Amino acid sequence: MPGRRPLVFGNWKMNGLGQDTRALSDRLKAFGPITRGTLGVFPPFTQLQAVAEKLRGSGIVVGAQDCHEAANGAYTGSVSAAMVADTGATAVILGHSERRHGLGESDALVNAKAKSALDAGLALLVICIGETESEYLDKQTLAVLDRQVEGSIPADIDPDRLVVAYEPVWAIGTGRTPSREEIASVHAHLRGRLAAHLKGDGRSVAIQYGGSVKGANAPVILGIADVDGALVGGASLDPVDFAKIFTAGGGSFAAPGS
Ligand code: PEP
Repeated sequence: MPGRRPLVFGNWKMNGLGQDTRALSDRLKAFGPITRGTLGVFPPFTQLQAVAEKLRGSGIVVGAQDCHEAANGAYTGSVSAAMVADTGATAVILGHSERRHGLGESDALVNAKAKSALDAGLALLVICIGETESEYLDKQTLAVLDRQVEGSIPADIDPDRLVVAYEPVWAIGTGRTPSREEIASVHAHLRGRLAAHLKGDGRSVAIQYGGSVKGANAPVILGIADVDGALVGGASLDPVDFAKIFTAGGGSFAAPGS
C-alpha cells in the first residue's frame, strides 16, 4: 500500500486536558487535507471521543493507546476495544513498552488484546515491540523481536490492519537512537520475520520506527529502507515538529506550511 506511506503516528501518552487536545487537533487540521501518507494521533482515553469528533473528515487517524482483552465485564477502570470504536476512533496501540515493562504486559496478553481489537472492528492495530537496553547490549535484539512477533501478533491478522512499531525501549524519551545501520538491519529482519509469521502477505505490513524521533532526525530515520513511518511520543505534542516528521518521510498536506 504505497499510498498509505509514510505512516506517522503521535502517541500523546498521559498528556492533554480538553483545551490542550482541542488546540492540538485544530493545529493539525489546519495543515490541510493529507494528500500523501497517513497521519494519526493517539490521545488519552478521556479525550478520544472529542478528538475523533474534531478530526472527523480530516483524514487523520484517531486511536486509543490501549484496550482491554475482554469484550466487557467486571474490569473496573478498563476500556474495551468496542468502547474505543464507539468513540469514533478506528485504531489502537498495543504492547507499548510503557505497558510491557511498566505494567508487566506479556506477549500473550498483547495477543489477546489484538484479537479483541480485531473482533471489535478497529481498522488498524499498532503493535509495539522492542528490546531493553540490557538486551541490546547482550546482542539479543533480534531474538527478542522474533519472540515478540511470534507471541504478540495473531498470525491470521489481515496485514492491512497491522502496523508494527519497532521501538527500542532504551530509545524512548531518551534522545538516543540506534545507528542508521542498526535500524536498517532490524527493519529488514522484521520484514522477513513478518512474512514468515503471518498467513497473509507479511512483507506488505507497515513497519514504523519509534524512539526519540524529532523533526531534526526524521529525514535520516525515515529515509532508511524498510522504515515505513514513525511512532512519535514527545515530538507529537508539538504540531509543527510532528508535521515536519511527516513531511520528512514524504507525507504531504494540501496546504503545506500553514
Ligand atoms: C513512544 O513513546 O512511543 C515514543 C517513541 O516516545 P518518544 O518519541 O518520546 O521517544
